[in-house]
Amino acid sequence: MMFLFIRIEEYPLEIEYVKEERTILGCRIVDIDYFMKRSMSLQLKHSKRCTSGYLQLIKEERVGLQSRFILKCNFCEKDLDIYNEEPSNEKSSTLNKAVVWGTLATGSTYSHTDKLFSVLNIPFISKYSFYKIQRELSTVKIS
Ligand SMILES: [Zn+2]
Repeated sequence: MMFLFIRIEEYPLEIEYVKEERTILGCRIVDIDYFMKRSMSLQLKHSKRCTSGYLQLIKEERVGLQSRFILKCNFCEKDLDIYNEEPSNEKSSTLNKAVVWGTLATGSTYSHTDKLFSVLNIPFISKYSFYKIQRELSTVKIS
C-alpha cells in the first residue's frame, strides 16, 4: 500500500465570493405586530415540514403603501406570502386610506407627502390612486 501526500500549501487558494443581492430596496411601513407574528409563524410552520431550508424574500408586489412580499424556501422552493398590513376585504388598504386622510387632515397635498416619503425612502402611492381614495373618502358618512 502506497500513500501519496500532496502539500496543499503548494496550490493557490481560490476564494469564491457570493455577493448577497438585495431584491427590495428602501423602507416600508408595516403593522409590526401582524408582520412579526405572521413571519415567525410562516417560518415555524415551514420548518416543521422542511428542516433544511429557510425562507428568503424574493419579490414584492405593491399597491400604494400596501406590499405583498413573496418568500421562497431556499431548499424546497415553496412560495409563501406576507403583507405589510393585515389584508382586508376593503377596496383600499388601511395604510393607503390613512395616508390620504392624514395628508388632507393636516392641510397638506399629494406632492408634499410624496416628497416626504421620498426623503424617507418609502415608495409612495400613485397620484391616480391618491385622488381615487380621496373621492372615496369624500362619500363616507360620519354618524
Ligand atoms: Zn423548504
